[in-house]
Amino acid sequence: MGRTVFISGAASGMGRAHARGFAAAGYNVVVADVDEVGGRAVVSEIGENAAFVRLDVRDPASWKAAVDETERRFGPISVLVNNAGIVSAAAPIADSDPADWDLVIATDLKGPYLGIRAAVPSLRRAGGGAIVNIASTTGHIGTSFIAAYSTSKWGIRGLTQTAALELARDNIRVDSVSPGVVRTPFITEPARPGAKPIAETWNGDQLAVKRMAEPEEITRVVMFLASEESAFITGSDYVIDGGLLIGPVVPADA
Ligand code: NAD
Repeated sequence: MGRTVFISGAASGMGRAHARGFAAAGYNVVVADVDEVGGRAVVSEIGENAAFVRLDVRDPASWKAAVDETERRFGPISVLVNNAGIVSAAAPIADSDPADWDLVIATDLKGPYLGIRAAVPSLRRAGGGAIVNIASTTGHIGTSFIAAYSTSKWGIRGLTQTAALELARDNIRVDSVSPGVVRTPFITEPARPGAKPIAETWNGDQLAVKRMAEPEEITRVVMFLASEESAFITGSDYVIDGGLLIGPVVPADA
């Protein structure tokens, strides 16, 4: 039946690119998302080795139903990509809305926790495999005005290391990737009605490489971490950021 990858948030952006990349490598692909229209469009781009499964990553029952549906369609899961995410409404902590904090933590941090919890029995049935969690450079440094988002992404790296320790005995490796700024609707579209797209302030000009990443540049690393090429890697975080974390380029005449 072949190996099966389950990707949360695969209706858009990087998740869509991961779905296309894994499909091209011969995987069965589960496109899991709250966005049914976008998810079904990705499935029709890929063809018969893909299936849409409705998933709200904040809900344990939704995870259980999605994993059960995956097993019925393709058999056990070999690779879980915890990719779904939303950004905080931009606000300083002192003026921010606790309801927004809860929404972002529930989606970006509790979501991947629930995903690991729900998918591990399936990965065990597959004889082992890999989990790749999508963190962010905002999980390495402070990030003003999006505290819940940055805190979630810091948390993802802790979750990744803990899960890697617990799951090595099951032949399941767990790693994360930390993209910098990637050209997806997350960056190019307003996160909330009336908000400015992040791309208006973060367009890549600030980086050493002077551009944003394309989603496929993240897919290649996710697929490496899912493959046997990375058999001795677990609990790691791969920064894919065009030099964002190494700081600004200082002009030669400064
Ligand atoms: P995107 O907005 O294009 O896609 C996110 C997807 O997640 C959407 O399809 C959306 O419907 C889905 N989603 C949102 N809430 C969900 C929920 N409750 N349940 C299921 N699905 C849900 O964004 P993207 O840029 O492709 O982001 C993918 C991941 O990469 C996110 O975790 C994001 O935090 C992370 N990331 C993005 C960037 C960037 O610059 N774009 C940088 C670093 C990390």
